Amino acid sequence: MKTTDANGTYIQVAVAAPVAELFDYLPPYPAGDIAILPGMRVLVPFGRGRRIGMVTAISTTTSLAVDRLKRIETLLDPYPLLSAEDLRFVLWAASYYRSSPAEALFSALPARLRRPEALLHNAPPGWRVAAVPAAYEQRQHIQQRAPRQAAILALLDAHPKGMNDAALRQHLGNCGAALRALAEKGLIERCHIDNHSTNTAAESSADKSYPSIQSLELNPDQQAAVCAVRETTGFGCFLLDGVTGSGKTEVYLRLIGDALRLGQQVLVLVPEIGLTPQLYDRFAQRIDVPMAVLHSSLSKRERELAWQQASSGRARLALGTRSAVFTPLPDLGLIIVDEEHDLSLKQQEGFRYSARDLAVRRAQVTACPVLLGSATPSLESLHNARLGRYRPLRLPQRAGAAIAPRILIADIRSQPLETGLCHALLTRMEQEISAGNQVLLFLNRRGFSPVLTCHDCGWISECQQCDARMTLHLERDQLLCHHCGLMLVRPARCPYCESPDLRPLGQGTERVEDSLRQRFPGIPLARIDRDSTRRKGELERLLAAAERAEFRILLGTQMLAKGHHFPGITLVGILDLDQGLYGSDFRATERMAQLLLQVAGRAGRAERAGTVLLQTRHPRHPLLTRLLHDGYGAFADDALAERAEARLPPFSHQALLRADSPKPEEALSFLRQALATAQPLAPPSVELWGPAPAQMERRAGRIRAQLLLQAPDRGTLQRLLGTLLPRLRTLPTPRHLRWSIDVDPQESL
Ligand code: ADP
Ligand code: ZN
Ligand code: ZN
Repeated sequence: MKTTDANGTYIQVAVAAPVAELFDYLPPYPAGDIAILPGMRVLVPFGRGRRIGMVTAISTTTSLAVDRLKRIETLLDPYPLLSAEDLRFVLWAASYYRSSPAEALFSALPARLRRPEALLHNAPPGWRVAAVPAAYEQRQHIQQRAPRQAAILALLDAHPKGMNDAALRQHLGNCGAALRALAEKGLIERCHIDNHSTNTAAESSADKSYPSIQSLELNPDQQAAVCAVRETTGFGCFLLDGVTGSGKTEVYLRLIGDALRLGQQVLVLVPEIGLTPQLYDRFAQRIDVPMAVLHSSLSKRERELAWQQASSGRARLALGTRSAVFTPLPDLGLIIVDEEHDLSLKQQEGFRYSARDLAVRRAQVTACPVLLGSATPSLESLHNARLGRYRPLRLPQRAGAAIAPRILIADIRSQPLETGLCHALLTRMEQEISAGNQVLLFLNRRGFSPVLTCHDCGWISECQQCDARMTLHLERDQLLCHHCGLMLVRPARCPYCESPDLRPLGQGTERVEDSLRQRFPGIPLARIDRDSTRRKGELERLLAAAERAEFRILLGTQMLAKGHHFPGITLVGILDLDQGLYGSDFRATERMAQLLLQVAGRAGRAERAGTVLLQTRHPRHPLLTRLLHDGYGAFADDALAERAEARLPPFSHQALLRADSPKPEEALSFLRQALATAQPLAPPSVELWGPAPAQMERRAGRIRAQLLLQAPDRGTLQRLLGTLLPRLRTLPTPRHLRWSIDVDPQESL
C-alpha cells in the first residue's frame, strides 16, 4: 500500500554519484520557511553515505513506494542556483553528451559550489516573473479567483528584475502561500537580487547611461555583418568568417554595445583568456559595464563571485572559457564565440562537451542570436553555413591600412639546417632585423630536444609509462614526458652502457633560442612557451613588451599563435608543421591549415607588409598547395570533398568509446564485449570501427583502446547510444578498467 507524505510532495534529485538516474526524495524535515525549488543544492542520504545533489523537479507523484523514500537532509541554498531554463539547458546537454545529470549540473557550477559549501555572498533571495509568460486565460483566472496572487503578479510585472522577499512583504504583507502557489504554476521563479537590480521597469528602460563605447568607423563589410545580426529577432546563428586582422573584434564590440543598450546581457566565449590578455584589455577599455571574467586561472573564490555577478544580472557582460557557456545570465540577449574552430572549446574529459555547439543550442533555447567568429572556421561550421543552418558573414580583407601577408615555401629537403632554420629564413631575419622590424619564429615543440640518445649503444630516452620519448629540458636539467608528466634528473651517463656520450636529437624552442642568441648577439629575444611563462604574470609581461616592440625576435609555441596583435612583425618563420600533413587523425590537415594561418596572421598587422616563410619537406602536398595558392576557403572545399567521399564528419556523426586499464588486453576485451552488445542494436546504416589500440597505446601506465561508432545522422547515433549505454553499464568490468563515451569527438586517442 502506498502512503502519502503530508504534503504529497516528492523532490527529484540529481545525486552526485556515478549513476545515470534521478532519485526521488521526501522534502527536508521540518520544511522550514524556504520553499524547496528546482536548481537548489541539497544533501541527501545515498547508499551508506551522504551526497550532494541538485533538485531537478518537484512532483506530487512518485513511481516508488513512498515508505521507502528517504528524506532530504539539508537544503544548501536559499534560492535556486540555476533557473528553470538553465536547468533544462544543462540537462539537455547531459543527455546529448551522455553524461550523468549530476555530473553535467555540477560542472556547470563554479568549483566551490560543487561541494556542500554555502554561497559566498548571500544576497537576499527574491522572486521574479518566470521567463515563460502566463497564458492569457491563466492570468484571467487568477485575476478573478486569487486577488493576492494577482497583486503579486502585478507588482513583479513592474519589477522585471525581481523583488526580494523583504520588499514583497513590505508591499503585500505576508504572502508566502500565494507566492508558492504562483511558483507551482510556473508563473514566477526564485532569483537572487541585489540592490542594483531592484529598479522598476520604468527605471531600467530609462537612460542607463550605457557604455561610452567609442568606436572606429566600420568598413562596409563590417557594417554588413553588424546589420545582419542587428536585424535578427529571436534565434539566428551567424558564422563570421574574417581573415586575421579583418576587424572581427570590432564587429563584436559594436554588437555588444547594441545588446547592452537594449538592457541585455552578453556572453562571450574565447578559447583561452590567459593567452590573450590583450583581448580582455580591449573589452575592458571599450565597454564600460560591469564585466564578469570566468576562467581557470582565477581562484575558486574569485570564480564564484564572478559567476554570482553574472547570475544576479549585475555583470552585464560575461567573458569566459568553455565552461562559461553554462553561466546563468537572466537577461541573455547575444552570444559570441571567438575562434570557434579552436580545440580548447571542447572539454576533453569528465563531462565532454563542445562549448561552441552548446552555445548555439543555448541561443536557440534563449531565442537570441549567436555569432561564431574565426579566420579559419571549422569544417563543421562551414558545412553548416553551406546547408543554410548558419548564415555566413565575410570579412575578406584586413581592416585599416594592413594588407594580407605573403606566404612563401622553403623546401628544406636537401638543405642543411642551422638548428632547425634554413639559410633563406636566416637571411630574411637578418634583413628585417637590420631594417628595424620584428621577427616571429614558430616551433610547436618546447624543451631543448625531443629525445636524448646514447651515441655508443643507441639507448633513447623513452618514458617508462608511455609509448613516447622523454623530452630533454636543459634549463630544468631534466628529462620530462609531455604525456604523463614523469620527470627524471638529466642523466650524466647512459643508463644502459654508462657511456658519457649522450646527444640531444632534434630541436625544441630552448635549443633554437640558444642558437639564435649566438647567431644574433645583442638582439633582444623573447622565448614564449609554457616553460618560460610558468611564473604568474610572466606571459602578460612578455606579451606587453613584445607589443611595444622591445624584442626584435619572438620565438614560441602555439601560445604565440592566438589572437595577439604585434604591429611591428614583418616576418614570420614557421619551422615545422609537417606532422600535420600526414597525421593519423583525419582532422590533422584541417588543424595544420588553421594553425598555419593563425601564426601567419601575426605578420604585417600594421602599415608594414608581412611575409611568412614556411619550412617544409612536402612542398607539393596537394592540400598545402591549395591553401597557399587559393586560400582557406578553397582548401576547405577540397578538404570537405575528401570528407564527403570518405563519409567522415561533418558528413557523418561519431561517438568514440574509449577504455583503458593498467593491464594489457583488458581494454580491448571490454570493447569487444561492447562491440558484441552494439552489433544487434545498431541499424545497418551505423558503422562500428574497431576496437583498436590507441595511437599511443600506453600512456601514464594505462593501456588504451577505442571503438568508433559512426552514423549518417545525429538521430540514429543518439538512439543507438540511448539503448547501448545502459547495457554497457551493466557489463561486468575488471576493477581498474575505466571507460567513457565521447559524442562528436574531436580527437582520437
Ligand atoms: P580580428 O579580430 O579580425 O583579428 P581586429 O578587430 O583585432 O581584427 O582588428 C585588427 C586591427 O584593425 C586592429 O588594430 C583594429 O583596431 C583595426 N581595425 C578594425 N576595424 C577597423 C576599421 N573599421 N577601421 C580602421 N581600423 C580598424
Ligand atoms: Zn649507452
Ligand atoms: Zn610518459
